[in-house]
Amino acid sequence: LFAGTADFTAAAPSLGVLPPMKGVEIAFAGRSNVGKSSLVNALTGRNTLARTSHTPGRTQQLNFFDIKGRLTLVDMPGYGYAAVEKAKVEAWTALIHSYLKGRANLARVFVLIDSRHGLKSIDTDVLDGLDKAAVSYQVVLTKGDALKKSEVDARIAATRAALAKRPAAYPEILLTSSRDDRGVAELRASVARLLAE
Ligand code: GDP
Repeated sequence: LFAGTADFTAAAPSLGVLPPMKGVEIAFAGRSNVGKSSLVNALTGRNTLARTSHTPGRTQQLNFFDIKGRLTLVDMPGYGYAAVEKAKVEAWTALIHSYLKGRANLARVFVLIDSRHGLKSIDTDVLDGLDKAAVSYQVVLTKGDALKKSEVDARIAATRAALAKRPAAYPEILLTSSRDDRGVAELRASVARLLAE
């Protein structure tokens, strides 16, 4: 699925300009610096994808990538960046909220969490929003290479406990690293299963 090219479809600074729905859509969200660009690049095997979203001015946009006409990958702007002023945070929230509600082909949001830090309160806020909107999501722990072996199980268990009563959470938690590629094949398989459904 991910071999070959992905076409950049559109950057949507507002909901009026979302590209038409095509195939199954998945979205990637997470705090700024969580390792989203690196993981999306590892997942798709290309470097051009997430770089686009790091272009200044594009950071508050939703970026849509078409993968073989079957899958649309949406790179969501990172949240929780301290230097972003309040008005921008509100614009972000409004955009995300309406996008999530109005996108019938959105199969899952992958919410990236830094495995070294676990769920922060801003992540919890985002999960609350997803649960409320009944948008299904899967938590993906990033930077797993930075954890000691003994810390891995504890982090996964704590995350699982935090998700237990969340109605829209997918039960499987993935631990990934774009440094050593762990969990990337599992993430790919998770995406492939969505296409098969
Ligand atoms: P984004 O802001 O969420 O798109 O994050 P980036 O992919 O740009 O990564 C943010 C920082 O985390 C960079 O310094 C990366 O080198 C680092 N990083 C990204 N992925 C990993 C990883 O798997 N392991 C480790 N140890 N660091 C990572």
